[in-house]
Amino acid sequence: MSEPVVRVVSVSKTFIQQGAFPWSPERPIHAVKSVDIEIHEGEIIALVGQSGSGKTTLARLVLGLEEITSGQILLEGRRWDTMTERERYPHRVRYQYVPQDAMSALDPQQSALEHVVETLRVLGGLDSAEAERQAIAMLERLGLGHRLAALPRQMSGGEQRRVTLARVLALRPRLVVADEPTSGLEPDRREEVLRDLIGNLPKDAGCILVTHDMSAARKWATRVLVMLDGHIIEKLDLREEDPVHPYARMLFDPWSSRLPDRGLAPTGCAFRLDCPQCVPPVAERCVATVPSLQRLDDTHSVACHAAAPQDPREDS
Ligand code: SF4
Repeated sequence: MSEPVVRVVSVSKTFIQQGAFPWSPERPIHAVKSVDIEIHEGEIIALVGQSGSGKTTLARLVLGLEEITSGQILLEGRRWDTMTERERYPHRVRYQYVPQDAMSALDPQQSALEHVVETLRVLGGLDSAEAERQAIAMLERLGLGHRLAALPRQMSGGEQRRVTLARVLALRPRLVVADEPTSGLEPDRREEVLRDLIGNLPKDAGCILVTHDMSAARKWATRVLVMLDGHIIEKLDLREEDPVHPYARMLFDPWSSRLPDRGLAPTGCAFRLDCPQCVPPVAERCVATVPSLQRLDDTHSVACHAAAPQDPREDS
């Protein structure tokens, strides 16, 4: 198999939170805890979990938009976490970020066409004529051929998202990290934006899709990583298998009226206060030990003491 586009090796991130007063002690916030991921070309990885689970922080760490506390990040086989920003700059064009808030990412004075042309000239190194030719072609592919002159305030929310996508996709990136790219849109617009993003990714690109939308993860992702309290607690292909972790099952059950609400446990499994399977005899282990990811099969791993793996290998 070829070199992964992304390798995340035992990555952790701790933020230091200042106290409310100058004399209050600082508090460490462990946002991402010892995470391992590989993303190969053609893979769409959905990072899912509730707010505060660590998914956006992890996505930002991969691109170097936040610096890791420990571990390693390799992009196309190259150590990314040890590079300075100056060393990263020539490579950044291949690793692109789609922000959650499209409107604030756009220049209010620039048309749809000008946004994409400028990106291709400045980051892509194209001359003006070639940049304009490629920009028009990309905007037409995304259904904006009739909106080339529109300014951001004249566009719908879906059109603004598609301009941000056009800027990213026109650069033919090897990695796209999309942070909640459909938040705030109507369901049918969300579908269109994700179809435009995923349908126009270069064949050799990997993609990380950070989302709260479980139906989108199920539909578009080749692999889903479920996060809880900074850990990945399940990895699976939802098109082939259903989740087995009790937390993931609640997240993905469209009929579930109950989402975890009792907070995270300070020791052992973070989910144990809400977990319906935390009963004897397994409960003793749930209290004492943080479960590690174990392989159920080649594409499915879970971190839960109650989900007994047939082949109890540690997930790498
Ligand atoms: S480890 Fe225990 S508490 Fe955690 S999800 Fe599994 S059964 Fe529930």
